Amino acid sequence: MTKAIFEIYLKYENILIYGFGMPATPVLIVGAGPVGQLAALLLSRHGIASRLVDRRSAPSTAPKAHAVNPRTLEICDSVGVPAARLHAAGASANDAGWVRFVGTLAGPDFGALPYERQDDNALAHTPFPLTNIPQPKFEAALAEAIAADRNILFTRGVACAGLAEGTSGVTATLESAGGEVSTLDCGYVIAADGAGSPLREMLGIAMEGPPSLQHYVMIHFKADLRTLTEARPGVLYFLFDPKTGGVLIAYDRADTWVLMHPYDPDAETRESFDDTRCRKLIEAAIGMTPPPLQIHNISPWTMSAQVAERYREGRVFLAGDAAHRFPPTGGLGLNTGAVDAQNLAWKLAAVLKGEAGAALLDTYEIERRPVAKVNCEQSLANAGKLFDLLFALHGTD
Ligand SMILES: Cc1cc2nc3c(=O)[nH]c(=O)nc-3n(C[C@H](O)[C@H](O)[C@H](O)COP(=O)(O)OP(=O)(O)OC[C@H]3O[C@@H](n4cnc5c(N)ncnc54)[C@H](O)[C@@H]3O)c2cc1C
Repeated sequence: MTKAIFEIYLKYENILIYGFGMPATPVLIVGAGPVGQLAALLLSRHGIASRLVDRRSAPSTAPKAHAVNPRTLEICDSVGVPAARLHAAGASANDAGWVRFVGTLAGPDFGALPYERQDDNALAHTPFPLTNIPQPKFEAALAEAIAADRNILFTRGVACAGLAEGTSGVTATLESAGGEVSTLDCGYVIAADGAGSPLREMLGIAMEGPPSLQHYVMIHFKADLRTLTEARPGVLYFLFDPKTGGVLIAYDRADTWVLMHPYDPDAETRESFDDTRCRKLIEAAIGMTPPPLQIHNISPWTMSAQVAERYREGRVFLAGDAAHRFPPTGGLGLNTGAVDAQNLAWKLAAVLKGEAGAALLDTYEIERRPVAKVNCEQSLANAGKLFDLLFALHGTD
């Protein structure tokens, strides 16, 4: 078969297999974060082709998630991203086995909690105990599987700028980074476009819950802090020294750290957190002159606790952070999104193949929204306990 004929075959393969009921692009997935990528791989596993687009021209380097739980690892393993490989790329259970409460990184120890479900005891419940892996490494493993999957057409630097629903599908307006505008007809759309979800806005779906609980400046830096943390390794260091505050996240004690520094946007601007000031904040958080370090990125982030009022508008479904935004206390955001993708993918596949009626798709929201609400409440309760501890130590100022 010549290359041109093969490409035409690929384009219409689903129609050849499943008949003319199957659109040439059965599913458009908007957003190639962990949830969009998993959705594409899961659909492919069920024999459904998808088009995946992301407005970013390169993957995000922000470490964000680190705790990937057993259910997410099971899902990854089922789509050809071996859990063993993710474990090998993540932090060791010894390195990431503790959550610590300290004055500063080098300062007094107030206590520690084990970061559970990582050790061999967890093997009684799951073949894949929780692993701590920085989100960019996790996404890179998914991207590798996507690149090898001919059911998925993935384009970066393309934003979805509009949606129009017809009787048998959706027409999406796509805009490239160079400003070229095109349209794409598809059967269904998965909006995996993150917490700010432009698609959710377009559909007029409101979020329920507090939009702004606390503002942080996220300072992503590279430093080798192994010697300093050798006696008390951990993945999270909650800082209680009144001169610093916030959290240090050790994605990799040898080189990848984030300082989450709380700030009040009414009292100071994001721009006031320049490189010089952030170096001083890192020094205060460490509690001594730090070894050489390199600041990669400084960005604001707002902690919220919200769930979308509904997960669906016609043929468009919200998944991942587009549907729910949790405080990170609990490590549940990505993990909840992974199961959204798993739940939605097999249902879309069954309906597209004519194996189930369209009513099956209603069960996506019925099953997943209550889970998001519980996980949101749990994450909020965890954050509340930490604030209580902080107030007990320092008062409410
Ligand atoms: C400090 C921190 C720690 C965290 N720790 C954990 C943890 O340990 N465990 C955990 O489970 N979760 C954790 N999370 C949450 C986790 O990072 C998110 O839940 C996860 O990134 C959500 O994935 P997503 O694919 O839904 O959205 P995103 O990762 O936000 O991806 C959305 C994508 O959509 C793209 N996009 C947006 N609009 C458009 C458009 N119009 N057209 C095309 N593309 C578009 C964006 O470019 C982006 O790539 C943490 C978050 C933070 C901030």
